[in-house]
Amino acid sequence: TLEVRDLHMAYGSLEVLKGIDLKVPAGSVTCIIGPSGSGKSTLLRCINRLVEPRAGDVLLDGQSVFSIRPELLRARVGMVFQQFNLFPDHTALGNVALAPQRIKGLSHDEATAIARARLAEVGLASRADHRPAGLSGGQQQRVAIARALAMSPEVILFDEVTSALDPELVKGVLNLMEDLGRRGMTMVIVTHEMNFARSVADQVVFMDEGKVVESGSPEEIFGNPRSQRLRNFLAEVL
Ligand code: ATP
Ligand code: MG
Repeated sequence: TLEVRDLHMAYGSLEVLKGIDLKVPAGSVTCIIGPSGSGKSTLLRCINRLVEPRAGDVLLDGQSVFSIRPELLRARVGMVFQQFNLFPDHTALGNVALAPQRIKGLSHDEATAIARARLAEVGLASRADHRPAGLSGGQQQRVAIARALAMSPEVILFDEVTSALDPELVKGVLNLMEDLGRRGMTMVIVTHEMNFARSVADQVVFMDEGKVVESGSPEEIFGNPRSQRLRNFLAEVL
């Protein structure tokens, strides 16, 4: 279980998170939606300590992430970004094998075996020896997901992972994420794909101006929005 408690974050004098509370039970999928600038990426970045909040706490199975060394935390909480962030000079296999070796201290052979299995899982066994530049955007994103999976994380955070993809490549990545959810991966997914959120999420969280305005089941959020702000947002994006 991932729990965020009264989290506050500011960039200088700009308050970006104004007391976020969130609970993500193990094995569940939470989708975060909301307008640009509402603080969605900042929330994910606080969870795995890419930025430090001003106040509040983030608990991973009851343990504060601020008591865990950042490298170890990032082994337990995976993150996948819009821009893939793959290492251009490594092959797909190398990208996936790197962290298990460096952070978990596995041998080259052990890490390579895990990387091969994870690449096969995301449908890229045949592309293992290609570098990122030789892969499509959708394939690069699936390598990035395999790289997160290779650490056997407790939670994976996804920040608009399909936003940079050509439209015809989006579905493959969404299907992979849906599949991970069905297999019990705990996931927090910031997305603009409302149909995906509606069909895959256990919980949908609507953020606006640094706050959680509303959260609930997909039926509640999309079928029966209570706040005017959420209704306006849905009218714009649906
Ligand atoms: P989007 O949907 O466009 O990705 P978001 O909900 O992810 O938006 P954030 O990226 O978390 O929003 O940004 C929240 C606010 O913080 C915005 O006003 C943004 O301009 C500001 N911000 C984000 N990163 C920084 C930074 N490194 N320095 C200063 N301000 C920042
Ligand atoms: Mg963002």
